[in-house]
Amino acid sequence: MPTILVTNDDGVHAPGLLALKQALSAIAEVLVLAPERNWSASGHSKTMHKPLRVHEVTLADGTPAFSSSGGPTDCVALAAEGVLGKRPDLVVSGINNGYNMGSDITYSGTVACALEATIYGIPGIAISTAAAKRSPIDVALLHPMAGRYARLVVERVLAEGLPPDTLLNVNVPAVAPSNLKGIEITRQGKRRYKDELIKREDPYGQPYYWLGGLGVIDFPDDGTDVGAIANGFVSVTPIGLDYTRHGFLSTLAEWHLQPEHPSQDRDEESHV
Ligand code: MN
Repeated sequence: MPTILVTNDDGVHAPGLLALKQALSAIAEVLVLAPERNWSASGHSKTMHKPLRVHEVTLADGTPAFSSSGGPTDCVALAAEGVLGKRPDLVVSGINNGYNMGSDITYSGTVACALEATIYGIPGIAISTAAAKRSPIDVALLHPMAGRYARLVVERVLAEGLPPDTLLNVNVPAVAPSNLKGIEITRQGKRRYKDELIKREDPYGQPYYWLGGLGVIDFPDDGTDVGAIANGFVSVTPIGLDYTRHGFLSTLAEWHLQPEHPSQDRDEESHV
């Protein structure tokens, strides 16, 4: 039986994590190590200057799990380095409370967990669905449905493997199970957040700022994660650790960024 690390960025007691754990327990030994608090939108962070604590906790269904004082990707690194006594064969992160599509994936701790796994040479999958507050259907229906799709994708990844430095970013639409259209393989799409700068004053007369959510504009282009979710499909996007814009390399080379006399710079440096 494979060993799967289930983690998230919403915190170890988030309902989505429990749903994911329960969905995967039938096909794998599931180890849970997740942050002790909500780290949503913390991206790919690393704790470098303080120690990390790991504690045993009990999930809402009475099963044991581990929490860490570190962030989401710290949890993956801890598990990959053997803190749970066993290196996982696969890392599955979620089920996140909120979609991770388009530029979300650069902020997402959920996706960063899968990315961290790929750095350790372990296949990673991120699973997200609508935020409970915004979901038109009850999470009591939504989470088990997302869990079933997570299991489906996990089974295929266990059978096929993933290329190096590649993760799968999965989003499950908040539609009634009978309205779900199936799975679409997609590319990363576009969403834009309408943030407002709110300036207020603290009790000591000092200003503070709040970048506030006026909502999000989705661009539901065909073939994208955003488009698939808008049309009621589960979106599965392969994402790479390599951020290079390969198509721009040759144009950039033609900029001739080279200084005219590189050796002169070296000489000046040596005289400092
Ligand atoms: Mn989250």
